[in-house]
Amino acid sequence: MKEVNSTPLMQQYRDIKSRHQDAILLFRMGDFYEMFYDDAETASRVLGLTLTARNNGGAADVPLAGVPVKALTEYLRRLVNHGYRVAICEQVEDPKVAQGIVRRAVVETVTPGAAFSDDLLNGARNNFLCAVNRAGTTFGIAAADLSTGELRLITATSNADVEAALARLAPSEILISRSAEPIAAASAREENALVTEREAWEFDPSLAREELARQYGVQSLEGFGIGAEDDAATGAAGALVRYLRELQPAGIPHLARPSVERPGAMMPLDEMTRRNLELIESLRGGGPGGDASGTLLGVLDRTVTPMGARLLRQWIHTPLTQRASIDLRHAAVSALAKDALARQALRDALDGVRDIERLASKAAAGRATPRELGSLGISLSRLPTVEQAARRVASAGAIAELLTRWDGCAELSSDIARTLVDRPPPAIGDDATIRVGVDAELDELRGVRDGGKEFIARIESAERRRTGISSLKVGFNRVFGYYLEITNANKHLVPNEYQRRQTLTGAERYVTPELKDYESRVLGAAELIETRERALFEAARARIGVCIARLQCAAGIVAHFDVLAALSEVAEREGYTKPEMTDEFTLEITAGRHPVVERMMPREKFIPNDVVLTEDARMIILTGPNMAGKSTILRQIGLIQLMAQMGSFVPATRARLGVCDRVFTRVGASDNLVRGQSTFMVEMSETSAILHTATRRSLVLLDEIGRGTSTYDGVSIAWSVSEYLHDAIKCKTVFATHYHELTQLDEELVAVRNYNVAVREVGDEVLFLHRLQPGGADRSYGIEVGRLAGLPKGVLRRARELLALLEGGHLVKRATAALAARDSVATPPAEQLALFSAQPDPIRARLAELDANALTPMAALTLLATLIDEARN
Ligand code: ATP
Repeated sequence: MKEVNSTPLMQQYRDIKSRHQDAILLFRMGDFYEMFYDDAETASRVLGLTLTARNNGGAADVPLAGVPVKALTEYLRRLVNHGYRVAICEQVEDPKVAQGIVRRAVVETVTPGAAFSDDLLNGARNNFLCAVNRAGTTFGIAAADLSTGELRLITATSNADVEAALARLAPSEILISRSAEPIAAASAREENALVTEREAWEFDPSLAREELARQYGVQSLEGFGIGAEDDAATGAAGALVRYLRELQPAGIPHLARPSVERPGAMMPLDEMTRRNLELIESLRGGGPGGDASGTLLGVLDRTVTPMGARLLRQWIHTPLTQRASIDLRHAAVSALAKDALARQALRDALDGVRDIERLASKAAAGRATPRELGSLGISLSRLPTVEQAARRVASAGAIAELLTRWDGCAELSSDIARTLVDRPPPAIGDDATIRVGVDAELDELRGVRDGGKEFIARIESAERRRTGISSLKVGFNRVFGYYLEITNANKHLVPNEYQRRQTLTGAERYVTPELKDYESRVLGAAELIETRERALFEAARARIGVCIARLQCAAGIVAHFDVLAALSEVAEREGYTKPEMTDEFTLEITAGRHPVVERMMPREKFIPNDVVLTEDARMIILTGPNMAGKSTILRQIGLIQLMAQMGSFVPATRARLGVCDRVFTRVGASDNLVRGQSTFMVEMSETSAILHTATRRSLVLLDEIGRGTSTYDGVSIAWSVSEYLHDAIKCKTVFATHYHELTQLDEELVAVRNYNVAVREVGDEVLFLHRLQPGGADRSYGIEVGRLAGLPKGVLRRARELLALLEGGHLVKRATAALAARDSVATPPAEQLALFSAQPDPIRARLAELDANALTPMAALTLLATLIDEARN
């Protein structure tokens, strides 16, 4: 640590740190990475390290904290998970040969969005780094996953679509221009990602084209299908690639050719729809990293490879909007669902395939360990079986298309198998990495080493014989090398030429010139073997690494096979059917089920329901008691539509579905305290977003709009939202509500139909039938649900009394209520409170006190006149 105080070292430190101001700099010093100044303070706080201070040559103390080199991965993981950038500065020359201060350089900067290490990644999820840009009226996003090498250029036409894209990509880090409009910056910040600001010029499209052309060694980007309409996304990609190059000074050779997504081909899913339909995350907690139970992903994920698991997530997030491409997927799922043997063969073949995509990226970036390259090799060796299995359904839609691009990378697989031993070690070292027979020089060195070892073993028996010490042993340790060990009892028998090296409690250790001679041969050979093995391994890794594009393509196809096979497996097991997709308006579901809810109850317990929406009957007002199953039906319609459009079969006996451009779901009340909005504000902004974006081809599912405010306000809003959807947008709509007033809409709007979820009253009890039937409901049975939930008896009794009171005429008649609600937006809430006042009706109270027999006819008449007067007031 003396070095710390010497000025040249600190000079070198400051020099390097000045180029990595925004990162924590891990400065390699021998067996430690040291951090100084603020970095040391941050690290000691975040990692719980002891903060020490060193006197810097008489000047102020330098705060210092260090982590052992061996523990780097763990500390790195913790720092990066806390959202820090970490620059790793290594000694880039051998300290033994260095003159003066060892040269050091930052070899990599790790950030949440730019990580390779398995410790920082989840196999089933991509780790995207996104750049967001705007050019004129279009928006562009570039998304890269450094660990897989994937790069996507996404063009969007509205801020909402940018938000939807970011929400589905769930990036760990977002790059924005320093001068980005506040709105773009805000939506980036909402994603819970690290936001990194870059200079505005880095997002310039023409500069970006040059940057990308240089990255891929091409003249123009046209070959990638990137045109002027992708300018915003290209600009974003330019900034992204420049940033990645800064983080990875050794280059990013594994970045795949960019894929381009333009508006229209995929359905943007907004956050509320993703959340409300519980596609990937359940509403009952389980954050983005949480487990998938209770979600659509949980039901569908029967993938067997990490690539498949990642692709399935992407498919769920991006349903298709072109019928032809949906049909291709359905045809493949159908063929695999019908042919159980082919499906099983494919799934069995895929089962042993590891993460080819990430392993290949590591190989290309020169990071794969011998074990990782070996496991890439084993995975590749399974590809012929995968291909064979897929060929059993070769003509099936998407499979046929994938097979035309199939490349089994056979030579790469046999190259690895030929070069590496069957079970390569995690690092080059004691255990062999390179197979015998690959390299004559290596084999010769091994001969020397092994011959030496054998000879040393022979020395043991020879010396035992010569000295007569039967317990004499030859041993080895790192400090003294090979030695002869003799117990104290036999000390007197030790020959003169033995040289003593070490004294133990019960024995002494000696060496002989002969032993040392063989030792130097063995150890010399071992060192040369390691160098030779490293060179051969790195050459093999580089040979595989340069074929990264082929490997990525193979990984992509494997991922598709895996997802298609998984979807057909689920379809078979869960009794799903192939939906018929049309370009018409109609949605027709026969005996539809909720894919997640049905799995939470015993088989056959879930009651299937039919739903039809046509142009003439395009809006359903769905009423029914609490707990009847309104939300379930609403969600199941949305889920069936989305499942169909992502390529899956659906839980129904028959489904005929017009392809939708968007599915919107607004369910229940949800606070967004993070954004500082009230429940009702969230409800209204979500509703407003739907009304602004939905088109005739959309499917809109609303649950309980207007519940977050007073009854009159609420009914008015719900009523006018329905009118707007019916008259102006004309889309398919299902509106579940407790406002029975809304059932009158069917008298006013031609394409509205009333449905309710049936219950049966048996004595005092309510039986939930969960069956959808035409007509509106007239009661809510909320009190019965309260009873089921265990409300105290007194509270229930009082609630029944109040209900009778309200229904007995103190409530404005339903027919007029709805209309009144439309006109009296500003009704003060105090009026409603009065309805629930705990005061009994005074007239009723007086009547109850009277004794009819004690009244004269005259007195009775006078009293009646007074009561009438009072009632009129
Ligand atoms: P509320 O108005 O109180 O929000 P709801 O009408 O929306 O109630 P849901 O939440 O959809 O009711 O359903 C209540 C429960 O009923 C579900 O948790 C589920 O267990 C059960 N359920 C719903 N639909 C069905 C069905 N089709 N078959 C069997 N059980 C069902």
